Amino acid sequence: MSDNDSLSKIVSEIQKCTKCPLHKTRKNAVPGEGPDNARLMFVGEAPGATEDRTGLPFVGRSGKLLVSLLENIGLSREDVYITSILKSRPPKNRSPKKSEIEACFPFLERQINLIKPEIIVLLGGVAISSIIGPWKLSEAHGKFYEGKGQKYFMTYHPAAALRFPKFRDIMMADFAILKTELNI
Ligand code: SF4
Repeated sequence: MSDNDSLSKIVSEIQKCTKCPLHKTRKNAVPGEGPDNARLMFVGEAPGATEDRTGLPFVGRSGKLLVSLLENIGLSREDVYITSILKSRPPKNRSPKKSEIEACFPFLERQINLIKPEIIVLLGGVAISSIIGPWKLSEAHGKFYEGKGQKYFMTYHPAAALRFPKFRDIMMADFAILKTELNI
């Protein structure tokens, strides 16, 4: 990261990025959004169809669920920074490839270095394995992890909670742990 890096510079680089083949099939890259001094950063897997169409993160059904989980602990979408491991949508929402994650990862590192969030919430297995390493979600969720001076919190991806309602209750309980940690 250079001394004069900025979130807007990263956004414009992502919007023009051709570092992996996903640029050929995306409609819009989805860099992320939120305040540059957010205490919390949320990292999902990759944009879906609605995000690809709008260029905005977590605006589809998963996003609505994320917002309701935030509101349950007294936060709004505007309070947090939201992004994902990949900034361009994989075709038909397939899982990200290792090469795509490696190509895209430096953008996320720069976003983290600029925002310096108190806690990074990793949503789902791809976010957890890309940043921390392989960890069974059923064991990892609801836990904090500290590494290289950064605190992480792990939970399920809202898309999982849309498919299987029991994960919604688990996520609500996880977010309650987050609320206690943040003292809000
Ligand atoms: S996913 Fe990341 S690396 Fe690949 S084209 Fe999009 S912004 Fe670039």
